[in-house]
Amino acid sequence: MVAIRKLLIANRGEIACRVMASAKAAGIATVAVYSDADANARHVRHADEAVRIGPGPAAESYLKADAVIAAALETGADAIHPGYGFLSENADFADAVAAAGLIFVGPPADAIRAMGSKSASKALMEKAGVPLVPGYHGAKQDTATLSKVAEKIGFPVLVKASAGGGGKGMRVVRKKADLKDAIEGAKREAKSSFGDPRLMIEKYLAKARHVEVQVFGDSHGNVVHLFERDCSLQRRHQKVIEEAPAPGMTPKLRAAMGEAAVNAARAVDYVGAGTVEFLLAGKDFYFIEMNTRLQVEHPVTEAITGQDLVAWQLRVAAGGTLPLAQDELAIDGHAFEARLYAEDPDKGYLPQTGTLSHLTFSHLPGVRIDTGIDQGDVVSVHYDPMIAKIIVHGADRADALSRLQAALAGTEIAGCETNLDFLLGISADEKFVSAKIDTGWLDRMKPPALGWRRVRPADETSLAVAALNVIRERGIAACRRAERSGDPYSPWFRTDGWRLIDRGHQDIFLRDMIDEASPHLVTAKARKDGGYDLTIGGERIHAQLSGDGSVVIDGVRTTASVAHLDDKLTVFTEDGRCILSLFDPADAAADETDTSGDLTAPMPGKVTHVHVKAGASVKRGASLLVLEAMKMEHTIAAPADGTVTEIRCKAGDQVEDGVPLVIFEPS
Ligand code: ADP
Repeated sequence: MVAIRKLLIANRGEIACRVMASAKAAGIATVAVYSDADANARHVRHADEAVRIGPGPAAESYLKADAVIAAALETGADAIHPGYGFLSENADFADAVAAAGLIFVGPPADAIRAMGSKSASKALMEKAGVPLVPGYHGAKQDTATLSKVAEKIGFPVLVKASAGGGGKGMRVVRKKADLKDAIEGAKREAKSSFGDPRLMIEKYLAKARHVEVQVFGDSHGNVVHLFERDCSLQRRHQKVIEEAPAPGMTPKLRAAMGEAAVNAARAVDYVGAGTVEFLLAGKDFYFIEMNTRLQVEHPVTEAITGQDLVAWQLRVAAGGTLPLAQDELAIDGHAFEARLYAEDPDKGYLPQTGTLSHLTFSHLPGVRIDTGIDQGDVVSVHYDPMIAKIIVHGADRADALSRLQAALAGTEIAGCETNLDFLLGISADEKFVSAKIDTGWLDRMKPPALGWRRVRPADETSLAVAALNVIRERGIAACRRAERSGDPYSPWFRTDGWRLIDRGHQDIFLRDMIDEASPHLVTAKARKDGGYDLTIGGERIHAQLSGDGSVVIDGVRTTASVAHLDDKLTVFTEDGRCILSLFDPADAAADETDTSGDLTAPMPGKVTHVHVKAGASVKRGASLLVLEAMKMEHTIAAPADGTVTEIRCKAGDQVEDGVPLVIFEPS
């Protein structure tokens, strides 16, 4: 067995942080690599050393095998862990790492190659006696052959890219008339996404579950499985919430699936962590593919087995034997993992970007948070918008589920749209609670059916908390100004509403995102006890903030916190959150008339169309130009009737956030 003393992690975000945690626990020094967009990212902050490997786009940094290997050699690392995604299933990279005299913490390159193509791996599995979904995975790729086999299999069929991943290049075809278009469309998509147009055709199992088996091999010929994970909760073939063990699994079926998975691994002389994915329909299971890496959802297996899979990987990569034999592994309790993303489920899961001005997680017992982001960090356009994985472990499924719900409810995020409410909605849905779902369940649901928006209208408590925070922040800002001035005791720096004769009060105007038309006024009068008398909608209450994230209103203490960014306040209380904006009626009146000036890019993107010429007079609302950002089109419209005095961009320009695009003069 060789010793790994220094490990380079060829990845970013939560996986890089996850791998580093196990390396550190084993006394192994860690090296991070980073792109310019990640110069101050969490994985860089947590590593012992960090090496810049290129600009923001992954193709110019994290996917540059040469740069990664050079960084390992330069820092004296002995091994490279590829994480998942990026170079993790790239056989040439595994070869290049070995050729540079370094250890690749992953399977042999030949095993990656053998399993890399869905069709070749199916042919191999057929030989090894692993059950397959009925289908075609042959070499003939002309539309006529593919159509003929599809008809023979019987509709519905699934047309799938052989090189596919992440649910891309997949089409369900329900009738003959749609076949030709689907085949040709999938070919184009496969060619553009994976550089390989080859397709395979499978029987589409409409109501199956996705059950996968974690396998592990060592270089001494031992292979074990660490039971199954159920990843049926998917949206558009992408996993959302995973759990282990699979609900309703019998010992007999588990043994059969485990044996099939181990056979699959043995068929390619597998070494390291791998996952054999199956579709389960009733008691019948069918191989779909093998992933030759650690999976995103590995923590649920760690939770129920009590094992650290990254520690296993490092041991096996160094030539060691598996730490446990099959009969020494057992399942303890139940675990869930929910993937928290910066995305908008109401807009087709559109990825979101932004600075996470507020980010706190639940620290209840049995909750594990794997993240690559801290409060204040930015979710950028360059990478997968995952914020964190929320993993829970309980004595049984019901216990784990209630921990999941509590952990999600206790998560507070502000700064960009996320799928947090969506996850909460799912975790409380009767069908999910009773485990009566299949891989198509979520896509068949209409979003409002889950009732997942937890933004609620402002009530007295949230208005009071928001107003008290504003007063506190104003007080702090005034103290700073006073300290900087020559006369710190001058009454001009006071913000307590002090006035001659009157007791003094402050008026705080707040607009509720849910009902913007009727703003709220909170009038606050300071009391000698440090609290305030507040008048909200004619009601008078006594409120006081305490330092520990709670507020006392008329003697009742409630947990509440506030994230304040620019003029937006998000108030988190136990039963959800509300979003308020702070405004000054005097400014608002001025804003309505002042519509002149620059129209800026709301986010980084590409200008796709410019609809007007300089000098054009336009009506309010007229489309001036279109910006494509985050795979969506955004129209920049005229804010009033007026004249476009200058255009500062042209179609095709890549523009940064906040850059003036059009100079506008209202008439
Ligand atoms: P990818 O590599 O793109 O993730 P997979 O082959 O692993 O693709 O399939 C992803 C998901 O697509 C599965 O979990 C399942 O939900 C669905 N799927 C794949 N094959 C079939 C099939 N034959 N019938 C029904 N659903 C399928």
